[in-house]
Amino acid sequence: MPPIRTSKRPGDFVVVSRGIYRSVVMSCPDGCGDVLTINLDPRTDKAWRYYRKRNQLSLFPSVWRDTGCQSHFIVWHHTIIWCEDNYRNEDVVIDSELDMRQRILSTCTYEWQHFTQIAEAIDEVPWDVNRICHQLARSLKLLEDGGKKRLGFFRLSAARK
Ligand SMILES: [Zn+2]
Repeated sequence: MPPIRTSKRPGDFVVVSRGIYRSVVMSCPDGCGDVLTINLDPRTDKAWRYYRKRNQLSLFPSVWRDTGCQSHFIVWHHTIIWCEDNYRNEDVVIDSELDMRQRILSTCTYEWQHFTQIAEAIDEVPWDVNRICHQLARSLKLLEDGGKKRLGFFRLSAARK
């Protein structure tokens, strides 16, 4: 796969696998020179989810370094989104968005579900699902957003009943 796009410098990385995906080793995308090892193996320690769609890498959740440069970023379809940038993510294009909307709507119920559960059910990248759920809530009013009280939760809008 090509280097990950970042606003600072190309993020070279390798995915380490032995039978299963073990880790992603990448040069820190802010260019500080550190090498980050992001664990993907749930049997050891805190693990990230790895997604490869259209030959593009995504990781979930965000990577937040508690040492060194303290970078906090999202890897989403091969693009680094800096969290301190207030999640400016217009550059990230979601493939077959309309189709995903339909699948999200048919997965949602009148019970609250977190976007990660919805993503799991339809086997999509949680960042994609989160963005589309927000669209479905905000512009289209087809979903209800859990707001601050239930951050990241969505359900079918009561108006649809
Ligand atoms: Zn760094």
